[in-house]
Formats: sequence, structure tokens, C-alpha cells
Amino acid sequence: MLLACQKGHPLRSKPSSPSESPGKQGKPATSRKTRQAKPAKKRDLASLFGKLGLNTPQDFLLHFPIRYEDETCLSPIAQASAGQSIQFEAVVQSCELTYRPRRYLTARMRDDSGEIQLRWINFYPSQVQQMQAGKRWRVRGEVRAGFGGLEMVHPKVTSPSSPLPQSLTPIYPTTEGLAQKAIAQRIEQALNTLDLDDSLPEAVRDNLGLMPFRQAVDVLHRPAPGDDLDALVHRTHPAWVRVKFDELLAQQLSLANAREQRRLRQADPLFEPLDRVSYVQKLSTELPFQLTAAQQRVVQEIHADLAQTWPMHRLLQGDVGSGKTVVAALAAMRAIDHGKQAAVMAPTEILAEQHYLKLEPWAKALGLQCVWLSAGLPARIKRQALDAIASGQAQLVVGTQALIQQGVTFADLGLAIVDEQHRFGVSQRLALGEKANGRLPHQLTMSATPIPRSLAMTCFADLDVSVIDERPPGRLPVKTKLVSASRRAEVIEGLRESVASGGQVYWVCPLVEESEALQLQTATDTHEMLTAALEGLTVGLVHGKLHAKEKADVMQRFKAGEINVLVATTVIEVGVDVPNASQMVIEHAERFGLAQLHQLRGRVGRGTRESICLLLYEPPLSFDAKYRLKALYETDDGFEIARRDLQLRGPGEFLGARQSGLSLLRFADFEADAHWVEKAKLLCDELRAQQPEVAKCHMDRWMQSREAFLNG
Ligand code: ADP
Ligand code: MG
Repeated sequence: MLLACQKGHPLRSKPSSPSESPGKQGKPATSRKTRQAKPAKKRDLASLFGKLGLNTPQDFLLHFPIRYEDETCLSPIAQASAGQSIQFEAVVQSCELTYRPRRYLTARMRDDSGEIQLRWINFYPSQVQQMQAGKRWRVRGEVRAGFGGLEMVHPKVTSPSSPLPQSLTPIYPTTEGLAQKAIAQRIEQALNTLDLDDSLPEAVRDNLGLMPFRQAVDVLHRPAPGDDLDALVHRTHPAWVRVKFDELLAQQLSLANAREQRRLRQADPLFEPLDRVSYVQKLSTELPFQLTAAQQRVVQEIHADLAQTWPMHRLLQGDVGSGKTVVAALAAMRAIDHGKQAAVMAPTEILAEQHYLKLEPWAKALGLQCVWLSAGLPARIKRQALDAIASGQAQLVVGTQALIQQGVTFADLGLAIVDEQHRFGVSQRLALGEKANGRLPHQLTMSATPIPRSLAMTCFADLDVSVIDERPPGRLPVKTKLVSASRRAEVIEGLRESVASGGQVYWVCPLVEESEALQLQTATDTHEMLTAALEGLTVGLVHGKLHAKEKADVMQRFKAGEINVLVATTVIEVGVDVPNASQMVIEHAERFGLAQLHQLRGRVGRGTRESICLLLYEPPLSFDAKYRLKALYETDDGFEIARRDLQLRGPGEFLGARQSGLSLLRFADFEADAHWVEKAKLLCDELRAQQPEVAKCHMDRWMQSREAFLNG
């Protein structure tokens, strides 16, 4: 132990992070403001604790240190070396106040082994008194190389008469104005008063090789001098493993609960009608293509869910172009088979409209009515649509968020389909669910972002997941090329060839993060430039600021082949389906996110024509941009792209919305702790089946109010 202490520990000397308490423990304050931070008054304390999410003793118990300081032993000054923390006891040799070039206080300290200088840039007059020659102090802090040898800036100075602590000193995450001591006290209280009995039976713990809970929290809050600090700080210590596992288990239990709650709710079972030819069968025979094996499988999964008496809550994942729309249509037909309505909602007007353009003719061919609803409809048409929805005359309804707004009443909504679910928050999903009178409609959410398994298990364990992992046959891979923007003129000339061979082109304008107006301007300029450069060809323009009708009009003309080159902003990012489009040019590709580029590229390569995607970039590329463009160049596998994207952005950003079980995790990391996720899932099922009281006790400790939002 002594050795470890003398050597100093690299992690102990880590500079204090901004989230640590100013001035109390750890590094003393350097600014006037923080130096004056007095212990907060009682009523402020509660609100400061509240800021950290610390309300109950339980919260304090689970508020773990970010690092530790070793104040358990003393070292000789001679062992001090730059960059390391040290604690020693020594006598003040001299003390000096300097005013130029700036005001500071220095003191020289000496013990039997050597001397070191202490320095303060901010200090109280009382500190000048404190450092008078001849006084003996215990000093602790980080050593650095100063002009005149080793020195310590703003060290912690205490009386040598108090006994050395027996355990390492924890440093907790805190907030401005909240002292470490205040937090530590409440944690101490929690440790002393709370029931720390294990929520898991000994046999289960032994089986998994887990440390008892009491021991784990004790180690984390008060590690002994011999404990493995590296492992504690890096969260690989067995104590951390226990805490993370507990959390993952609680999360699985909570998601399983949410799922069970859903099963307790009522929905009308939509089974296959045996006495007539179903709409599902009719549509299947109408389709101009054969379903892929993957499509058939997920349709079966969905139909099996629909036949249950509880509401379906299924996530349909499929890469761009995998053919989700037809699956959605076959699900909708099952609702219609039972005289019920189906609604399809998409996040943007363009996307919703693509669904409408596809679904409406299918519905019509079967003698069904499909209506369109969006915010921008003229009042009279909107009234008609609302009436058709309310009377049940419209069996299929397609639209944007307008579908979940006030004033929309369904006669009998049997199935709600939401496309691109990662763009919606939970509340929107639920609102659509409430549109059915009393009973819950079945819900199908579709996502074009394939989610890696470990993430899906942690964040969507309350959903059932179907994956379309196969593309329709005959698709040629899209050729992707990186082209420097300096070759723009060449690229433009190349478009003529594409068009001459019968293809159509998307020209995607760059994101302009700072300003939507600027983005619009760029799109308009590009449209003008291309119109001038490509005489004889028809160049169209579509962007977010167009009226719905104008947008629809442009898209319709592009689809019909009347427009050769379509200049577009990212409004086409999702769902747009024009199989004849075989070339895409993305300007300033380096500004787009990886998933976004993949989605954009997915707009071409939808027909049987060989397609090409040109990524125009402006050098020099940042490291991240290079990584993204390289990934896109190397693969068109949605799962692989998702994996890399996740690596770049982390799960919160990646999912785009604060939702799902992920927000139940504070300590565990779904990726680094992936094998524990699997074990937690197994134990979750086992406990629920065999020891529900254990499951409940475990949840009570961990979840409290955190899971309320999952029970939708
Ligand atoms: P996404 O999953 O991206 O929403 P879509 O549903 O828009 O994909 O389908 C992409 C294209 O593939 C559409 O033109 C669709 O008609 C076509 N398609 C879907 N399934 C098949 C299939 N089994 N065989 C051939 N083409 C298909
Ligand atoms: Mg789609």
C-alpha cells in the first residue's frame, strides 16, 4: 500500500473536472466566485440536490463517485514529482506576498526529506496568517514544475492533528455551489439507514459471479486503500459490475412489465377470415411482384400479432428499399378485413405522400377508399376527409401529424402504422394509439434505421421486432464515388449522359445548418445554375418551403419522367420512391451525417437500372467526415452503416429522440456491457416466471418513478 501511495496514482492526480465541487475537496477553487461558495442553506440544498436528481435516500445511495483521492497516507516531500498528487506533513520555512507581476502568495515547506513551494493566486488574509513560518501543516495537492523547482498551486492545507482517513476519499459528481462534504454526508446517512440487503438470492449471485450488493456500494463509496483504483475509476471493478448488472436487470424487468401491461389491455383480435376471400389475399394477387422471403416472414409475424386480444406493438426494421410499404399495406388489409380502419402516419408530407401514392391505387383496385390528410389541405377537402374518417367510409387513411391532431375522429381504428419511428417521440406514438374509442388499436412502427441487436435489446425490449433483412431481387448495388468539388463542371456534363440513357437524376443541395433561408437560397441558385448548364433538359426544384400542393406536383412530374433532373433539399431524405432515378449527386456530402447519407443514397438503385451516387466534397475533410464518406463508399449494408454511425455518435444522438429503455440506464453501457445485457435478459425471464417477489423487490430498489413513461 505504501508503495502505491508513494508512487502516486495517475488517476488520483487527474485534474478536477468542471462537474466536481469547487473548492471543498479535490482542487481548491481558483476564482473568487467559487471560492466564496459557502455551504448552501438547507432549503437551497434540496434544490441543489434536486438538480443532480438526488431526492430520496435511495438516490443518494446510487450516486457514485467519479474518482477518488488517497488521503490515507503521507509521503516524504522528496518523492514529489510533477504531474502527481502527494500528501505530506511539513513545516513552513518562509511565506511571501508578491504584488508584481500579479498578486500571489507563496510559502516554502520543508520536511526531513526536502522542500517544496506552495502558491496561491486567490487567497484570504487568513491564509496569509496560516502560512506563517514555523507552523506545521498537512498539505495535499498536485505537484507541477514551476520556475523555481517543484510547486503546488492551491493545495489543500489541513491540521496535522486530525487522524488520517481509513478509506479513500470519494469525489462525487456535483453542481455549482454544492460541496462534496454535503453530498458525502447524505450518502453516509443513506448507507447507514437504508436496507442494503441483497435483492438477488445468493444462488443467483454465485451463479453469475456477482458481488453482494452491500459490499458493492460500500466499496464504491468507501474503497479501502488497497482496492484497485484503476478498476474503480474505469468502472470495471466487480463492485461496478454488480451495480451495472442490477441496473440492466431492473431495466429488463421494467420493459418486460411495460410489455405485460400492454398484454393486459384489450384490442380487437384481427385474425384471418376463413369464410371469404380476404383483402390480404386480394392485395397479394394484385401485386406486380412476389414478396421476398423476408417480407413473407414479417407479414406472418405481424398477422400473428394482430390475431391476439392485446394490442400489437411491433417495430418493423428494414433498410432503405427493403420494401416496408407493401408489408404495411398487407397489415392494413387485415384490419380492413374486419371492417376496421387503418391509418398510416409519416413524419414529413413528402414521405406521407409517397405512401399515399403507393397505397391509394392498391386500395382503389380492391374497391376500398383511401383518404389523404395533411395540415395544408384546403378547408373543404379537409372537411370531406374528416367526414370520411369519422363515418368509416374511408378504410385507409394516410397523412402527417395532422392525423393525431384534435378534430380527427376515427369510426373504428384497428391499426395505426407509423413510419420512420425514430423521428417521433413516444408521446406522438401514444397519441395515435388513443384515437380508437376505448380499445387500443394495434400499432406497427416502421424504421429505416436498422438497430444493432444489443441496442435493440436495451432500448426496445418492450416492443416486438421484425426485421426485413433481404432486398427485392434484381437490384444492382449503387456505385458510390467520392468526387472533389473542384470537378463539379465535369459532373454536370456527366448528367447529360445519364439522362440520355433514360435515367433521372437527384441533385441534393447541402445542409446549411445556420440558416434555413440560406439553404433555400442555395437550392434556388443551384436550380438556376443547372437549368442554364443543362439546356434542353427539364430541371425541377423541390424544398421544404414549397406548398404541399406544389411539392406534390413536382414529385408527380418527376415520377412521371417529365423532370430529368430534380434539385432537392433533404426533404427527399426519407421514403421517396422513384425507381427510374438512377443517379444522385450530393453536394457538400461532408456536411451530412452517415445515416442521412445512407438514406439519401437509398433513393437510387430502386429499379433494375445500374445506379450511381456521386458524393461531392469540399477538401480538406475533417477526420469524422472522412470516416463517414469512407464508410459510405465501402458498404451499403444498413446494419454495418448503423454500427459505424453508432460508433461515431453514441446511442442518444443516433436514436434521435429521448425515448425508449435507454434512458433507464445511468451506469451500464449497452455496448461495452453487451454480454451482461444478455444475462440480465435471461435472469429477468427466469425471475418473472419463478420468483416474481424477487423481481419486484429488485425493481423497487432501482426504478422508483423512472419507468412511468414506458407504460404507454
Ligand atoms: P422502403 O423499405 O424503403 O420503404 P419501399 O417499400 O418504398 O421500401 O420499396 C422500395 C421499392 O421496392 C418500391 O418500388 C416497391 O414497390 C419495390 N418492392 C417492394 N417489395 C418488392 C418485391 N418483393 N419485389 C420487387 N420489388 C419490390
Ligand atoms: Mg419507405
